[in-house]
Amino acid sequence: MPEREQFRAIKGTRDILPPDSSLWNWFEQAARETFESYNFRDIRTPIIEQTELFSRSIGIDTDIVIKEMYGFPKKLEILRRATTDQIGDLRNEANVLRFGQALAVLVANLTRALEQGDIPSTRENREAIRDLENLSKATVDRWNSGHRTPNPVWHGWFGDAAELIGGLQLERIEESQSLRPEGTAPICRAYIEHGMQTLPGDQKLYYIGPMFRRERPQKGRYRQFYQIGAEVLGPSDAPAIDAELLEMLLVFFRRVGLTRTTLYINSIGDKNCRPQYVARLREFLVKVKDHLKEDSQRRIETNPLRVLDSKIPEEQQIIENLPRISDHLCDDCRAHYAKLKDELRLRKIAFEENWRLVRGLDYYTRTTFEVTAEGLGSQNAVCGGGRYDGLVELLGGPPTKGIGFAIGSDRSILSIQESRNLPHLPGLSVYVAWMGAKAYPAAVAIARKLREAGLSVELPPEEMKFKKSLSLADKLRARYALILGEDEVASHTFTLKRLSDAEQKKLNENELLEYLESEKRGSRA
Ligand code: AMP
Repeated sequence: MPEREQFRAIKGTRDILPPDSSLWNWFEQAARETFESYNFRDIRTPIIEQTELFSRSIGIDTDIVIKEMYGFPKKLEILRRATTDQIGDLRNEANVLRFGQALAVLVANLTRALEQGDIPSTRENREAIRDLENLSKATVDRWNSGHRTPNPVWHGWFGDAAELIGGLQLERIEESQSLRPEGTAPICRAYIEHGMQTLPGDQKLYYIGPMFRRERPQKGRYRQFYQIGAEVLGPSDAPAIDAELLEMLLVFFRRVGLTRTTLYINSIGDKNCRPQYVARLREFLVKVKDHLKEDSQRRIETNPLRVLDSKIPEEQQIIENLPRISDHLCDDCRAHYAKLKDELRLRKIAFEENWRLVRGLDYYTRTTFEVTAEGLGSQNAVCGGGRYDGLVELLGGPPTKGIGFAIGSDRSILSIQESRNLPHLPGLSVYVAWMGAKAYPAAVAIARKLREAGLSVELPPEEMKFKKSLSLADKLRARYALILGEDEVASHTFTLKRLSDAEQKKLNENELLEYLESEKRGSRA
């Protein structure tokens, strides 16, 4: 058997292991509690959606849609590849039987696909499937008859099969699907699909989950990353909605100790004033085109606002002299933006204006914002968001206003870890160090009771010497070891040892429960 390469997490993805996962849970729980205190409710949408949902909403000419989406190759294309790979693997005379069986499975799948209309029912396809079936039967029969198959014959079969499989017409019939690169479009899709505009009040929704973008991985940038987002959908675009959303965001950040942050805001106008601004911006950009790099040059035509996002040093001076959207807002947008700033001041929320904050997604209107955090290097944005009035309509729904944000959990947690401002998270409370067959039933019983009282308890499944048990309790960082030997069983007591200072107490069951429960309340307070 050739040695197999060890499996590893796919590039740009990672495992979140204990104890980090406790920090993640704590972070997400804090978001839930904060958001629910603002009357937001959890929404869970699928991780896969129709590709077009994203290309239509995020914009065809955005990095996400052009380069970063994880689409699914056709189901049958996968089948074809898997089978060809398997046959490749079996290219060995000893595996004639497995070859025949792999073909039989393929034939069964293809036949079903043909019947269900998943692949075109052409004469060529039907003939190819029949030939594959014959080949499969011949191989299995040959094997069963006990005849050896000379190598040239075997290789001929292999070649025939590969050719037949390669020639199948498997064009896509099912619609294209993609892993979601963001959460807003799916929520708008769900809002429309379930007629949520008929529900009372604004729809205030939050979500927590993984997103997928095929970006170049680096610190703080992954291909599977996690977002916590919130959206408000409804008939009103009152600036107080924007301000309350930002208040909630910053209350959450304060709660999790992310305090070294900066909130940047901007207004990018709406469909009345932005087109004129973009046209004007384009005129200016055309004049300086030769001084811009390739990406920005392309964006003059496709998405001029994105030029303002450029981080390239040579372009900064040019960008500083470009016309600014703030000078081109229509009266309504200008009033909306001014009111938003008043509302933020009312709530004592510090902010900085950044006229270049346009964000990469096409669907934004008016308010856009971003929060950056310290200690993260170049990938320092921990949250982005904005208004998207009109997105629901663009997706086929009723006229609806909307605003939302998405917090990047990976980066936020990285920033919390780097600030060393970590919360105290409860770990293992009690390690039950039992010894002796008589002590075991009492150990099982007390472990259950302590767990029911909400404590985290480790009960070793096999007997150990006290010394070894206590040393393991130390290594597991238990707060207490509960010592249960024959003496304790005889006297119906427990010896509770605090591992930080080795202080010991002898307690009966009631005293023990009372002591640990009150201690737990104290450590939480
Ligand atoms: P966006 O949906 O692009 O507005 O991103 C919102 C937030 O999600 C950003 O501010 C980041 O914190 C986070 N984020 C976006 N892309 C990634 C990624 N590839 N890896 C980690 N975090 C990301």
